[in-house]
Amino acid sequence: MGLEKEAQIASHQSGHNSGVIHSGIYYAPGSLKARLCIRGASLLRAYCDKHGIAHPEPGKLIVAVRESELGRLDNLKQRGNANGLLGLQMVDADGIRQVEPAARGLRAIFSPATGIVDYGQVAGALASDVTAAGGVILSSNRVTGLQRSPAGWRITTLASTFAARIVVSCAGLQSDRLAAMTGAARDPRIVPFRGEYSHPTQHFRFSASTSRDASAGRSGLGPTPSWRWRRKATAGAASMLASWHRSCAGPASIGWAAATGAWARRS
Ligand SMILES: Cc1cc2nc3c(=O)[nH]c(=O)nc-3n(C[C@H](O)[C@H](O)[C@H](O)COP(=O)(O)OP(=O)(O)OC[C@H]3O[C@@H](n4cnc5c(N)ncnc54)[C@H](O)[C@@H]3O)c2cc1C
Repeated sequence: MGLEKEAQIASHQSGHNSGVIHSGIYYAPGSLKARLCIRGASLLRAYCDKHGIAHPEPGKLIVAVRESELGRLDNLKQRGNANGLLGLQMVDADGIRQVEPAARGLRAIFSPATGIVDYGQVAGALASDVTAAGGVILSSNRVTGLQRSPAGWRITTLASTFAARIVVSCAGLQSDRLAAMTGAARDPRIVPFRGEYSHPTQHFRFSASTSRDASAGRSGLGPTPSWRWRRKATAGAASMLASWHRSCAGPASIGWAAATGAWARRS
């Protein structure tokens, strides 16, 4: 049995994310993140094939626009190779334009294994699998209490109470709240950041790396990541990292990955 607080499944992150099937290029070789990302992408593609869900692979360009970024770009390609990613190519300014005519940069990694998918559809297929196997998903059933009982757990929701032997909590950005209901420590806490998606219609400029109409090309675009940005973002400072996404679910978009300061969660 699944308990869902919203009226529809995938109303939180899974139905509102960038829809990218990440290749795993960014993660330290051998780390859990790298292994989960690469294995997860492969399992996800197989699941989509089985359920008839489209998952095109437009690839991704990770662009260096300054000389100071070139060393990090080389390191990233080494990481990708060590993670076993196939087909990574280092392309020059002309190569960048061939993949994405509107993009400008000194050099870029083209990662052909980066795909896109509508994660809302994936969630819908998973929910159908649950019901086909005899399970139920009860929507509009917000969990408000989790208490130990002789049989396992007593679960209180806004609508009813339930008994379960085992509880698996997967409440996304509210998972710390559910953990606290079991009596667990309040830390670690999820500190949310407000994000924005823009849907450009005509000509626009994106960071220093694109100009003109980026919808003319075919891939996703991202800047060369830096630890300086990550430190600022985790410290809650005003910072931004933009990336350009193709999307299965709607128009292409620019995602502003972090805005100014922490953002209060809705209940
Ligand atoms: C802006 C953004 C872009 C992203 N882009 C990508 C991407 O391109 N590719 C990628 O792989 N990942 C991406 N991610 C990460 C990815 O979306 C998440 O890791 C993933 O969706 C998490 O799934 P989840 O089921 O754990 O959480 P969620 O999808 O957030 O679901 C949590 C569920 O728990 C329910 N819930 C919460 N509290 C309760 C309660 N008290 N009682 C009952 N139900 C409750 C919610 O209603 C919700 O349905 C992105 C994330 C964000 C925020």
